[in-house]
Amino acid sequence: MLVNTKEMLLKAKEGKYAVAAFNVYNLETVQAAVRVSEELQHPVIIALGERYFDTVDVEGFASLVQTIGAKSSVPVSLHLDHAYEKESIIRAIRAGFNSVMFDGSKFDLEENTRLTKEITEIAHMAGVSVEAEIGSVALGAFSDEEEGTGTLTDPLEAKKFVEKTGVDFLAAAIGTVHGMYKGEPNIRLDLLDEIRNLVDVPLVLHGASGTPDEIIKEAVARGICKINVNTEVSLAATRHLDEMFKNGNQKNEHLSNIMAEMQKSMEPVMMKFVQLLKQSI
Ligand SMILES: [Zn+2]
Repeated sequence: MLVNTKEMLLKAKEGKYAVAAFNVYNLETVQAAVRVSEELQHPVIIALGERYFDTVDVEGFASLVQTIGAKSSVPVSLHLDHAYEKESIIRAIRAGFNSVMFDGSKFDLEENTRLTKEITEIAHMAGVSVEAEIGSVALGAFSDEEEGTGTLTDPLEAKKFVEKTGVDFLAAAIGTVHGMYKGEPNIRLDLLDEIRNLVDVPLVLHGASGTPDEIIKEAVARGICKINVNTEVSLAATRHLDEMFKNGNQKNEHLSNIMAEMQKSMEPVMMKFVQLLKQSI
């Protein structure tokens, strides 16, 4: 069934578990995310980034997720990930997305607050929930996200930001990166505790790829309710395809079989994340 992302995350907060937001780009990634979530009987967020608007038919994609979500045995929501433009947010709302992320992290705090408040008011009128980011998640390897400054979230600023903007959930920068880590990860769980103590709305962790399992479990135990996963799933698929082609295994293969193989190669990685999020320690 399709559900409101805010309700899904409030339940996660109460139940002390988290939900994966899998970045998707095509039918196979959506099917993999929903199939794995159904197998493990856990809710799932299907996230499409604004950066894919050039290559993905947004309205067609929304219909596809809505149809697959409606017949799913687990709660599914459709989310717009990292949107920088108001036009993209309005387009997603019109297409029936359940939640949107406005990323104003490149602006100073005052401007980020002003723009996020404006977006939140528009989205709420349409019954759509809003995620925003304060601080800025840095860029690691193999990611196609924007370069972030790596500025960690200031807990007091986060508190004021949520109060002033009315956002429904907040992405906090605590040391994870978009993509794979270039060195040893330094995740500030102490900072997460401080933010959790001051901020009431569900918290979101971007940059799960390559983060040690124990850290993810600990982050969920300390109040993270939504974890964004992109690069690690994408890498599993591209590496699998690379092997297939290198070994000549694709000979006589129809494209449809290659697409099915690609889907299968993503599922174990998604499965690992959902299992980690189902229960905190
Ligand atoms: Zn992100």
